[in-house]
Amino acid sequence: LDRNKVSGRLTDIDLSENAKAVLAKRYLKKNEQGEVLEAPIDMFRRVASNIAEGEYKFREGDEARALYEEWNEKFLQMMLSRKFMPNSPTLMNAGRELQQLSACFVLPVEDSIDGIYDTLKHQAVIHKSGGGTGFGFSRLRPKNDIVKSTMGVSSGPVSFMAVFDASTEHIKQGGTRRGANMGILRVDHPDIEEFITCKNDNEKINNFNISVAITDEFMESVRNDTDFDLVNPRDGKVMKTVRARDLFEKIVHGAWLNGEPGVVFIDKIDGDNPTPQFPIESTNPCSEAHLPPYDSCNLGSINLERFVRSADGSDATLADGNTSGEVRIDWDELRETVHTAVRFLDNVIEQNNYPLAEIDAMSRGNRRIGLGVMGFADALIQLGITYDSEEGLAFAEKIMKFVDDEAWAASKKLAEERGVMPNFEGSRHEKRGLRARNATVTTIAPTGTISMIAGCSGGIEPLFAVAFMRRQADMEMPDVNPEFVRLAKERGFYSEELMKKVAEHGSVRDIEEVPEDVRNVWVVSHDISPEWHVRMQAAFQKHTSMGISKTINLPNEATTKDVEDAYMMAFDTGCKGVAVYRDGSRDAQVLSTGATG
Ligand code: ADP
Repeated sequence: LDRNKVSGRLTDIDLSENAKAVLAKRYLKKNEQGEVLEAPIDMFRRVASNIAEGEYKFREGDEARALYEEWNEKFLQMMLSRKFMPNSPTLMNAGRELQQLSACFVLPVEDSIDGIYDTLKHQAVIHKSGGGTGFGFSRLRPKNDIVKSTMGVSSGPVSFMAVFDASTEHIKQGGTRRGANMGILRVDHPDIEEFITCKNDNEKINNFNISVAITDEFMESVRNDTDFDLVNPRDGKVMKTVRARDLFEKIVHGAWLNGEPGVVFIDKIDGDNPTPQFPIESTNPCSEAHLPPYDSCNLGSINLERFVRSADGSDATLADGNTSGEVRIDWDELRETVHTAVRFLDNVIEQNNYPLAEIDAMSRGNRRIGLGVMGFADALIQLGITYDSEEGLAFAEKIMKFVDDEAWAASKKLAEERGVMPNFEGSRHEKRGLRARNATVTTIAPTGTISMIAGCSGGIEPLFAVAFMRRQADMEMPDVNPEFVRLAKERGFYSEELMKKVAEHGSVRDIEEVPEDVRNVWVVSHDISPEWHVRMQAAFQKHTSMGISKTINLPNEATTKDVEDAYMMAFDTGCKGVAVYRDGSRDAQVLSTGATG
């Protein structure tokens, strides 16, 4: 990278071929002929400058100009060094006509035809601009309930969800991304059983992730094996009483079958809602952001891998390992990056062109931002720490506490400069005397695309594989993590044969030819037991304002009891939700439906 440096400043960005391809396909400006009009570095310049223009909203004249220049440079350097990436809509849209910068929205679903179809339209507008939408369907009266005005019967939440799903199918997101939705139903809704099974055949409602909103009362009921009431939201009357455990088993079975539904622990989420004057309605599609109706959240993630330093102060690499304790985190630089990122995200709120007036008001009033981390697994490997170990958990807590504390410090500093968030009155911040500019500061997103752009492992997930077999030019070739290849050569255990073996296994944990210290830290998702996945999620949740996107991976042979244990453990350890995925369960399902159909 040094060749790109001018007196300490970067003048270009070091991107992988995959990253360049993704950017060219969906992120870079194009003309009507589809020709790409900007280089990746121009994209980062466009974004930095557009977001720095937010400074003009708070100051005037020379002062504003100086602030703009200072932050434009800092924002640009933070992205070129791949220390921070904003969520995809910001990269795609900042400084362009759309100017829609947020990844997450939640829309209300009222129990009326007008309400439902207004929201359907709003969903289309958001999808067109590249955002994902979440909905709570719990206010809808159940299937076959009375409709007074027509003396007919209602078709219920699941059938309306299918309408939102069909509409999503037809809205291509301005040539960028397909729409994504979250549908949530409370566990005490009379249609809950239909909801739980609505995706079992992997054929319907494919543009939705679904989650059951589980209450503490329900969990109590499951524990004590008591009955549980399902209540009509229209009039509060009990429509049916079920055995809580039977219902819980259905949820668990669905999750075991194909990963759906997930669950969110709604009382915990509500209890932590910093703006109780606006109750939480749903989450975004990957469930890390918990939002009231019409609120949005813009995300950004810090690439932890970029803060690992060797003893001589240079960037550490994955091959360095940390057998002698010489590799460490550059905490000062991490602090500075957190502060710059919080300012960046607060500016995003100002610069955003919201798809609806209601969203504009709610977003500016609450000012939720979601700063998260990615490259966590890469950082652990460089530091020589095993993901599924007490040391791994301790490191997770330490680094996330640091990021969260510094993010609040930055938000308080911004409040002194720009004022507290407009919805401060009535907020939990007011009660605690927390004079911050933002209702929330931290959230851990999946970072599906931005981690690829930054060239690091996704979110807080372990590596997916050390190597895998890739079909190329009609040949099966091993595709090995390049840092692993480098390490193997440096440590003298490299051979083509071994790399092939690693690719066939995916994991190195049981490969004896690989030295033990390397096997201990080069851990992949399937090496890790569900308990450790949950424990890691819980460790991060302790110091995160909103939620965590994390998949609890299970082996194909896992039982429904394993899923149940993971759900119980997630609840008991303070997670705000949980999503499991049993290896191969979606493929197997497609095959079995193919065979019977
Ligand atoms: P990225 O890496 O592209 O910034 P993430 O994988 O971190 O995105 O996802 C963050 C959030 O962005 C999701 O929870 C969801 O709200 C939204 N999102 C992701 N993919 C899509 C999509 N295809 N369409 C709409 N929204 C999406």
